[in-house]
Parts: sequence; C-alpha cells; structure tokens
Amino acid sequence: MLGHNHALFSVAAWCAVSASPLVGDLDVSGVAVGALVSAGAALLPDVDHPSASVARSLPPLTVWVARLVSAVGGGHRGITHSLVGAVLFVALVAVTPWRAWSAVVCGVSVSVVPTVVGGVCVALAVRAVWKKSPGLVQWAVCLVGAVVCGVWSGAWMGVALICGWVSHIVADSVTVAGVPLVWPLRPRPLVDTPLWRRSGCFALPVLGKAGSGVEYGVVSVLVVAAVAWRAWMMVA
Ligand SMILES: [Zn+2]
Repeated sequence: MLGHNHALFSVAAWCAVSASPLVGDLDVSGVAVGALVSAGAALLPDVDHPSASVARSLPPLTVWVARLVSAVGGGHRGITHSLVGAVLFVALVAVTPWRAWSAVVCGVSVSVVPTVVGGVCVALAVRAVWKKSPGLVQWAVCLVGAVVCGVWSGAWMGVALICGWVSHIVADSVTVAGVPLVWPLRPRPLVDTPLWRRSGCFALPVLGKAGSGVEYGVVSVLVVAAVAWRAWMMVA
C-alpha cells in the first residue's frame, strides 16, 4: 500500500479504536490529534526502506535510522512487517515512560516523550501526503506537532501508535506482495501462489497491487465512512 493510503487507512482504524474501551473518553481534540499521531505511526514499519517517504521525513536523522533498521532487520519487508516486529513494538510502547520528565508550562503538564514522539508522527503524516515537502519544512512541522502533542497528549497516545503500526501490517497483507508474517523464518512454497508467495510473504490480496485503483477506492470509502461515523458518535 502507498504511504498516503497507509496514513488514511490508519485514520479509519483510529476512528473505530478511539471509540472502543481501549481508549477512555476522548473529546474532539483528543480524537483529532490521535488521528494525526496514528496516521504518522502508520508509516513507521516502512522505516526498513531507505528511500521510503518515512526515511525522508526528517533528514538526515530518519535516513540514518532507515539504513540501520534495513541493515539489522533484513531489508524491506523484514522484521518491521512481521508478527515478531508487531509484538516488539507493542512491548516498546508498553515500557516507554510516557509520563517521565514532565514540567508544568503555562498551567499545562507537558511530558518529554509524548511531545517528541507526537512531533515525529505529525511530521511523518504530513510527509505522507506532501511528498515533496522540503526537509526544513518537515522539521518545522515536527516542532509544531510536538507542541500540539505535548499539550494534548494523553494515555491514548500508545494506543494510537499501535493502531498505526498494526494497520500498516494489515494493509500490506491485503496487497499482492504480502508480508513476511513469520520472519525471521521465510518458508517458501514450491509454486508461487497469491496467498503464499515465493518471497516467503503471506497475502490476502483483495486490494491487488500497491497503488491500485481498488486500493484508492476502498481506502477512500473507509476513511470517509469512519470519520463521518466517529463525528456522529461524538455529537449523538
Ligand atoms: Zn510496508
């Protein structure tokens, strides 16, 4: 799936997740900022690809991170697209000290970790839809995003990150290329099939190839329906 569709698909998923018991009561600002964070987090698994938009989001930092993850994690569609990667990401979110290093600024309690993580995610989300945005602009977006997420962060942030990451794996698994679910194992079938590829990836390719018309159609309908439903839930 293409980057901007990953971001939109994650927004649709966040609309459902943010209304579930996984997240406490959220007001409009919480749902909106969570959608931004989730959209950015949906780009994170592609940090295993040095030329993906996530790698170019905050240059040169994200380029270095992408090269490192690609080298360590078995290249593109390696660990970050696997079940092992998803479990490690959830564990990382769970042990992250979200409320550490806090200070009260202008009457608002601000913590360092959600501020930084939120800023990065907002920069990723903007980069997903504005592919030619210059590096300096991206850093400025990151700064603004950090301020917004610092002020509006809450216990929902970890859920929004996991929502983004998991939605990425689900979205790639319904395209033709599929995902290496059981990485580091890459069991290969004798014959290439749509469900089990010679690459060792598994797929349920209902959306066809990444960037297909079906992908655009399904994601567009999903995100419009999900946002409308979530808005109705908040006013009802
Ligand atoms: Zn991917």
